[in-house]
Amino acid sequence: MKLRELGEFGLIDRIARQVLNAPSVVLGIGDDAAALSPTPGTLTLITSDMLLEGVHFDLNFSDPQSLGRKSLSVNLSDLAAMGAKPRQFLLSIALPSALPLEFVDLFVSGVLEQAERYGVTLVGGDTCASLGGLAISITALGEQAPDRVVKRSGAAPGDLVCLTGTVGDAALGLVELRGGVRQGFLVTRQLDPTPRVAAGVALAEAGLASAMIDVSDGVLADLTHICELSGVGVRLELERLPLSREYRAACGADPYALALSGGEDYELLFCVPKGKGGEAEQILQRLGLRFSVVGEVVPGSSVQLLTPGGGTYEPGKLGFDHFG
Ligand code: ADP
Ligand code: MG
Repeated sequence: MKLRELGEFGLIDRIARQVLNAPSVVLGIGDDAAALSPTPGTLTLITSDMLLEGVHFDLNFSDPQSLGRKSLSVNLSDLAAMGAKPRQFLLSIALPSALPLEFVDLFVSGVLEQAERYGVTLVGGDTCASLGGLAISITALGEQAPDRVVKRSGAAPGDLVCLTGTVGDAALGLVELRGGVRQGFLVTRQLDPTPRVAAGVALAEAGLASAMIDVSDGVLADLTHICELSGVGVRLELERLPLSREYRAACGADPYALALSGGEDYELLFCVPKGKGGEAEQILQRLGLRFSVVGEVVPGSSVQLLTPGGGTYEPGKLGFDHFG
């Protein structure tokens, strides 16, 4: 069957039939709006991310299932960076009518597979034809107690600057994909990132993170957001940046460039008061995640990059900017 034969409502129905019920969803897909029942006493956190063909992904090397998972992951990552538990999401898609139905099915199965993995329910969306490329927009809702939500603005001088996982992998994976590589650790980090949902929630609920952001635009750009909103500076020690073995093997002469400015790792960058670093480390260890302290919050407003030799490093660029 073709998308044209199935039609808009046939496709919505095909998606809706695969969605599981959830207690928080009073009314799901099918009406003019969904009705949700939030946990009493919690705030609702809501976030949206678009993925556009040609801007965010290339159908020459994005497989539909990974694209589906990634579309949801990038939104879950934003909720994780607030310390919010993900609950529901809306999926809006604009599809070129020539797109094979098989592609759409695999994309949707990727989205729903990731939804099940993280316990979030699809409650609605929008479906239309695209005269250009494929466009995907997901809006995700999460919840957290008001005093546990972690913003970008709470970092204070003396806090440790910490990271989950490793950085630079996704950007190097994109370089590899463009060079014809189709598999491996770095490529998977680019095409199918893992949102650090449990880590974000655990750090928030333990009251450890003073500020948090997910690394979507690059460590330097995202750290700059924390600095601006917290009114602080950061001294970052480049030799402490967590780099994977695969990254080190493929990064070339300057190991810091993509680790600082490459985006899409979807790791968490967070600050913790100095005395609480050990506790944060334990939480991440229990989740099987690498924990690194990469620097310290200082008075000021800029990010200083310190080289192993004690000098300062001048980055080529800050990070990803759609219009920059
Ligand atoms: P309306 O015309 O009122 O906007 P639609 O026909 O667009 O309604 O959508 C009908 C129902 O299907 C709504 O509940 C909507 O949220 C849901 N829906 C539409 N597209 C999607 C999608 N891609 N994924 C999940 N639900 C969808
Ligand atoms: Mg509609």
